[in-house]
Amino acid sequence: MNETSTSSSVSPSAEEYLLTLFRKEVGNEQIGTSKLAELFDVKAPSVTGMLRRLHKRGWVTYKRYRPPELTDLGRSIATKLIRRHRLLETYLVSHLEFDPDEVHDEVEILEHAVSDTLIDRIDEKLGHPAFDPHGEPIPDENGHSPNMNLITLSTVAEESSAVFSRMDNRDLGMKKHLTSLGLQPGTNLTRMSSGQADQLLVKAGERLLKMPEKIAQLIWVWPDTY
Ligand SMILES: [Zn+2]
Repeated sequence: MNETSTSSSVSPSAEEYLLTLFRKEVGNEQIGTSKLAELFDVKAPSVTGMLRRLHKRGWVTYKRYRPPELTDLGRSIATKLIRRHRLLETYLVSHLEFDPDEVHDEVEILEHAVSDTLIDRIDEKLGHPAFDPHGEPIPDENGHSPNMNLITLSTVAEESSAVFSRMDNRDLGMKKHLTSLGLQPGTNLTRMSSGQADQLLVKAGERLLKMPEKIAQLIWVWPDTY
C-alpha cells in the first residue's frame, strides 16, 4: 500500500505522538493533553500545538478538552513505523548477532534513515517474520498483524491454547529458565487441568511445565481465537 506518505516525511516527535496514541489505542486507553505533556516532559501548549499540526495533516482527530484519536491514516502510519522498527530489530538480531536486549537503542537511530524499499527487502530476506526478537507481532505490508491484543497466560482457560509472545522482564531468572526450555515467540501453549488453584500445568510444545500462578501473570500470549 503506497497511498500513504512514508515516514521519511514525519519528524521524530510527530512519530512519537503517533506511536504513543497507537499503543494507548491497542490497550483500549485514551490519553489526554496533560498526560502527554507529562510523558514527553514538555509544557501543555507544545502538546496542543503538535496535536493541532497532526490534526491538520489528517493523522489525528483533535478537539479541545477531548483526548486525541488516531484517524485511519494516522493509524496506518503508526503501523508502518512499528513494522519498520520491529523488522530492523529482527534483522540485527538474526543477521548481525546483536543481543535482543541491546537492539532497541540501535534501531531508534537507524529507523529514521532507511527507505521503504530497504525495509521490504529485509522483510523478504527474513522470510516475512511474524514476530520480532521480543515476541512482538510484526505487521505485514498491509498493516495486518497477528492479534495485537495480548493477554496473560494466567487468564487462559484450562484446556485452551494460546501462542507464547513474551515474558515480562520482572523475573529475569525465570525468563532465562523458560527460554532454556525452548519457549520462544510463536511456541504453542496449552493450559492443562492442574487441579490446583495457584499452579498451572502448561504443555509447551512437547514439554509439560508446572508454573506458579504469579509467573503465569508475567507471560503474555495471543489468545488462540482464529
Ligand atoms: Zn524496540
